[in-house]
Order: sequence, then structure tokens, then C-alpha cells
Amino acid sequence: MREKPLLPPWNIEALNPPFGDPGFFLYHSYSGRGLFFDLGDLHRLPPKKILQANHIFISHGHIDHLIGFDMVLRTTLNRPRHLQLYGPPGIIEMIGHKLLGYHWNLTAHYELLITVHAVDELFIERCTFACADKFHPGRRSREKRPGAAILTTPTFSVKAVDLNHGIPSLAFVLDETLQVNFRPEKLQRLNLKPGPWLTQLRLALQSGAVADTCIEIAGTGYPIRDLAETLAIIKPGRRIAYVTDMGFNPENLARLLPLIADADLLLCEAAFLDTAADKAAESHHLTAAQAGEIAHQARAKHLKLFHFSPRHHDLKEEFYLQARTRFSGPVN
Ligand SMILES: [Zn+2]
Ligand SMILES: [Zn+2]
Repeated sequence: MREKPLLPPWNIEALNPPFGDPGFFLYHSYSGRGLFFDLGDLHRLPPKKILQANHIFISHGHIDHLIGFDMVLRTTLNRPRHLQLYGPPGIIEMIGHKLLGYHWNLTAHYELLITVHAVDELFIERCTFACADKFHPGRRSREKRPGAAILTTPTFSVKAVDLNHGIPSLAFVLDETLQVNFRPEKLQRLNLKPGPWLTQLRLALQSGAVADTCIEIAGTGYPIRDLAETLAIIKPGRRIAYVTDMGFNPENLARLLPLIADADLLLCEAAFLDTAADKAAESHHLTAAQAGEIAHQARAKHLKLFHFSPRHHDLKEEFYLQARTRFSGPVN
């Protein structure tokens, strides 16, 4: 179950082996932030990890992608947490109905809040469910999407597009903010003491502040450019794409490829082998070779396959071989 980190500082774990329910848990070790892409069966994941995740991104509401929601609910129920769950149109009703499936007469003092964000092409609709209010749906709000982005945090941003899976299925890309680290030995050379200004400098660099803007340190203004040149080690953040349950057709590819271009890691479904390509087309899923083709066309650096159909249960290695016929980078 435990896998070697592919992309430090991110720890990325499949929720299940490739023939099991889909989904990944991602944990950013610098910031302590965790998130889920989809919620298949979660029983392999320790509660400690479930409690590290504040953001949940659901591609679509098929049961193998959402059944783990109950486990998240069970684990976080008596915690003062505010979960943010993003999904396709209809997700507010689906979560609302799941929450209505239990009695909540003994939990009025619990503080758990769940805000559900339904993402369509132009708008995001939101609704908050409070445990203290027996998870009755709160008032809905709706706002226009600022482009493809659906969430921006100091650590990462997430964009989404909807693809056709017979129903809408969201693909996600996570862009980590610039990685900024400081060289402590250089602080002494500048005769500066560490302080909150380092956080200010990091945030300024991550937000692309103008280079000659000054930061005040002990009453003196220092241009960001000079501080950055001397003190900072700046690396681009990682790009992680999550693509699942989509038909391999020109419309879907035209929407998907610009979103996931140059991903450091592409997490991609590969439900079928070539021998079942007709079944893949019929059920709006990918074959392993098509997943390889997507990785190739997106210029991904690494491809990780998941969501294998049990009909091929004795042919696990064949999935990787068929993906490698189209993609020359690492596949696992
Ligand atoms: Zn599906
Ligand atoms: Zn699925």
C-alpha cells in the first residue's frame, strides 16, 4: 500500500491497488496540507491521514468514486473541521442525500461543516451543511468561475475541466506554488535576523511581486530582488494531473490536453486493455494504450495508471506494457 514518494514534497498514495476502487490521497509535507482526488473504498487509509485532508475533489458520482465519503464523515464527525468538497453538477444533491441517510439527534454540539462546490463550465454553486444543524442544506450561493481555476490556496491551486463519461466527469490539475527556501548562512552575511519578514518575502516571491518592491526589515527597506538573489532558492512548483473516467474522443482530448500540459505526474485511469477497446468506448473509459497516448501528447514526465477493470485481473503487467507502446517516460 505505502509507496515511495514520487514527487517530494508531495506524498501521493493510491487508495487501493490498481484493480480496486479509484482515488488518491496527496499530502504536502512542507505545509501539512492533504487532499483527495476521488473517494473510492477508504478502508486501507489510516484515520490519521483522512484527518489531514481538508479538500476533496470528486470527478463524478459513480459509486466507486464516492463510497469513501461515509468513511471521511465517520472519521471527522466530532472534529471542529470545515471540509471543502468539489464535484460536478448535482454533487450538492448527492452529498445532501447521503447526509440525510442517518439520524443526527445526538450530534448537535459537533462543529463539523462541509461545504460542497458544484463545478460547471461557467459557474460554481456552493452549499454548506452543518452537523449542528443536522446537516440540513444551508443557503446556496453561485458565482462565476474565474477561468479554469476552482481553488487557490497559499500552497497550491486546482483547475478543472469537465469531460464526457456519459455523464460529466471532472479532470483536475493541481499546480503547486513556487517552492521558496532560504539559505540561513546568507542571513548572517547580510547581517539580518530571521523574522516574519521571511514569510512576507516568500509570499511576495510566490505571488510574483515586482522585483524592486521593498520589504521593511528593522526599519530599513530592502528590494525583493536583492533579498531573493542572496537568500532564496526558488524552484518551480509541481504539476499533478488527475484524469479518470473519460471517453477517448477528440472533444474530450481538446478540453483535457491544454489543462494537463507538461504535468510532472499524470494520474490516469486505464480501465481496459486493447482486447476490450470496444468495451472502453461503450462505457466512456480509457484503454492503457490511450492513457499512454494522453501522457505522450501532454508531455507528462511520469504516468501512474489506476482503475483497472477486474475482467483483466490476471493481466496486470499488460496494462503497463500497452501504455509504454505510446509513452516513453516512466510508467507505474
Ligand atoms: Zn465512472
Ligand atoms: Zn470509475
